[in-house]
Amino acid sequence: MAKKPVRTISGVTPLTVVLKPRKCNHGTCIYCPGGEFVPQSYTDKSPAIMRAMALKYDPFEQVKSRLDTLEKMGHPTDKIELIILGGTFLQYDLDYQYGYIKACFDALNDKKSKNLEEAKKLNEKSRHRCVAMCIENRPDNCSDEEVKRMLEFGCTRVEIGIQILDDEIYKKIKRGHTVKDVVDATKRLKDAGFKVGYHVMPGLPYSNPGKDIRLFKKIYSDDRFRPDQLKIYPCQIVDDSPLASMYKKINYEPYNEAQTREIINKIMDIIPEYCRVMRVMREIPKEKMAFDPVRIDLRKDVEQKIRDSGRKISEIRMREIGFALSRTSSKRGQGGEIGFNIDVDKNIKLKVVRYKASGGEEYFLEIVNKDNILFGLLRLRIFDEDLSKSSTSPTTASYKVNGKTQNELSVNASKNSRAKRVKHAIVRELHVYGQALALGAEGKLGQHTGLGKWLMGEAERIVLKNKIEELKVISGVGVREYYHKMGYRLEGSYMVKKF
Ligand code: SF4
Repeated sequence: MAKKPVRTISGVTPLTVVLKPRKCNHGTCIYCPGGEFVPQSYTDKSPAIMRAMALKYDPFEQVKSRLDTLEKMGHPTDKIELIILGGTFLQYDLDYQYGYIKACFDALNDKKSKNLEEAKKLNEKSRHRCVAMCIENRPDNCSDEEVKRMLEFGCTRVEIGIQILDDEIYKKIKRGHTVKDVVDATKRLKDAGFKVGYHVMPGLPYSNPGKDIRLFKKIYSDDRFRPDQLKIYPCQIVDDSPLASMYKKINYEPYNEAQTREIINKIMDIIPEYCRVMRVMREIPKEKMAFDPVRIDLRKDVEQKIRDSGRKISEIRMREIGFALSRTSSKRGQGGEIGFNIDVDKNIKLKVVRYKASGGEEYFLEIVNKDNILFGLLRLRIFDEDLSKSSTSPTTASYKVNGKTQNELSVNASKNSRAKRVKHAIVRELHVYGQALALGAEGKLGQHTGLGKWLMGEAERIVLKNKIEELKVISGVGVREYYHKMGYRLEGSYMVKKF
């Protein structure tokens, strides 16, 4: 049994690397800490930052050191999700960005490559494969060119801070972007196949609980948003942030623990079944807070109360097999913690939830049992592209080159335009849940039991039904081999199957 097994309970082993300190281009959002020697939005007392500082923020050394620690803790390190933290990566100079990603792959490969392409190629068969990569970003740093660059890095998930969907508040808290930037970024990222995570921030200055909930509902009721994942970071006053020196002047107080609990409780009821809450509360040490800090593990309380009350929650994480089982018993060996031994109903079925999002049609495929416990999921996006509009979109460009005629659906939308609409299908996520298993290990429930193939087969069926002749998959570099075995071939940054 691994120490802290919850880290790998969702099927992959996360490995966090931190960027060197740098101020964001637009200035500083008023709640954001950070200093000369600390990456923006973090404090020098956070464990991940302290580790990175000790290694002078060197990406190669950070990956090596984390691999070593994870192995010592008993976690499998075959399937790594690389998470890049600190500031806004896409704003660093280009050499730094490319060098950083290459160094991470080099460390996973245990070999220095000549360039990023070679490093990625090597990683396809490396012992430590990068099966997913997450970049934290801003909505106004998701231009076509930036989206293309993230694909080139091997990124599969992009998290953007949206905090609250309100332009007035954005101005007052000095976010430096607009709601329209959120709308545009969400669409570009989804069309390129990324999983999209939002960071939301209840309790900001100039908001209140009613407004927070009203605008939170909009995230799902308005189909221009609808993220796949969420991080809920209630606003707190942190030392070294502009807010720490101005909160008295603007008469601001953050939500206390009871208010925070209440708001998170309400939020949990709103989140639909296609969205996963990745985290609640920032890990900011209490000595860095101006007010009594809210407990970092507040989520546990909220979730326990939900379970005790029997309330049905749709959100993904509470339904995942690993987490669902880990809460069914407090004793190990009886299904408690991470055990898969309890009598879980193994009669599983496929469920398809269809919804509109960012100008496309999302098919959310889930494998669940009768209690709605989730064993695996797949996100398939089908969307039209108007080729008459000149676009520099990287996805657009590659589609034009690779799938120019075969996917063409209809020509001409209006008399005055020569619109050519092309329909695309892309798998944005395939995930089978359960404790991460080593590559090649035999699975009992969840991973390595053929659920991934089942989900892909269903996605292909939907694509054929829609008369689309190819399916693209955004795939972590380390998962390409898996898709290769299913008949997919590498084209640009995607694994592609033609029908
Ligand atoms: S964009 Fe993020 S990292 Fe940059 S100042 Fe704002 S909160 Fe901090």
